[in-house]
Amino acid sequence: MTMTTPLPPGSVIGILGGGQLGRMLSVAAARLGFRSHVYEPAPAPPAGHVADRITTASYDDRVALADFAASVDVITYEFENIPTAALDLLEALRPIRPNRRALAISQDRIAEKDFLTGLGLACAPYAAVDGAADLQAALVRIGTPSILKTTRLGYDGKGQFRLRGKQDAEAALAAMAGAAAVLEGFIDFSHEVSVIAARGLDGSVACYDPGENVHRDGILHTTTLPARLSASQRSDAVLLAARILTALDYVGVMGVELFVTPQGFLVNEIAPRVHNSGHWTQNGCAIDQFEQHIRAVAGWPLGDGSRFADVVMENLIGDDILRVPEIARERNAALHLYGKVEARPGRKMGHVNRIVTG
Ligand code: AMP
Repeated sequence: MTMTTPLPPGSVIGILGGGQLGRMLSVAAARLGFRSHVYEPAPAPPAGHVADRITTASYDDRVALADFAASVDVITYEFENIPTAALDLLEALRPIRPNRRALAISQDRIAEKDFLTGLGLACAPYAAVDGAADLQAALVRIGTPSILKTTRLGYDGKGQFRLRGKQDAEAALAAMAGAAAVLEGFIDFSHEVSVIAARGLDGSVACYDPGENVHRDGILHTTTLPARLSASQRSDAVLLAARILTALDYVGVMGVELFVTPQGFLVNEIAPRVHNSGHWTQNGCAIDQFEQHIRAVAGWPLGDGSRFADVVMENLIGDDILRVPEIARERNAALHLYGKVEARPGRKMGHVNRIVTG
């Protein structure tokens, strides 16, 4: 099989990570006639209910990784923090899409901001912080209010501390627990939007309409389409995303999170995978982000992602799952549940896409 031959139905898509994103990728793969093999260290993952095959093993189990690679035609992933040694082993055996560079950049907030600003895109002012002395210097440059974030392994607002003034420096450093960090200027944005963008193996790019995101306690709460953006802002956002994907020679779907400010867009972060703020595409487009990603990594042509409805996606977090019987009675509300048994606080249990009519 050469790099450019589309994988035929019946081929096996390997997916690293068996959470809800791996689950929805597996469903999309099955719809196109592919089989999926999910690799996940935790027992009984959400993707296990729908994948053709599941391997339960850790990312340092070299035998399990090699067996997994041997059983698949291409490897993709649902999260960015895959250990480097596992990637080295897998990459020697099968293509990994999206590529390593996209992963390396998105795993490290400083590498990510250096890459984005190198492309001429704007980010919040930032400075690396490796200890108390660095933080004092960074505070002189960036000032307050600001946010100290761990450079690696942060998600859903974890590993972040907001500084209202210099007096918060000590508490902020303590919250990093010795991890390398980055201080970011606090952006007084008017709202947050994201672009879900895809790039195919042939270099073509297709972007979904930007969605407007509202977070609660650092976790995405809703994504609303259309976002409050002018026509020219909409095309700027999409062009900006396309530049990022092309610069990375990217294959697959990426989430690009933007702050909207009077001075223009600032890129908050990029995620080299399908993204929670793209879940609305499941009910607002003919080809959703999950199918688009599978198409891209399988070398198929990208699908038409034009939006045919106004949609509000709401995440069902923790006890929100108790509202399912009531939501199930609503008209035009498409439920997507992840099959997780235990509803812990902050845990994403499912989401609902409400089609806005009239
Ligand atoms: P992150 O994990 O970096 O995506 O941050 C989670 C959320 O915190 C973002 O979606 C914003 O709502 C908020 N946030 C992060 N960085 C900044 C910043 N520099 N200024 C203002 N708000 C921020």
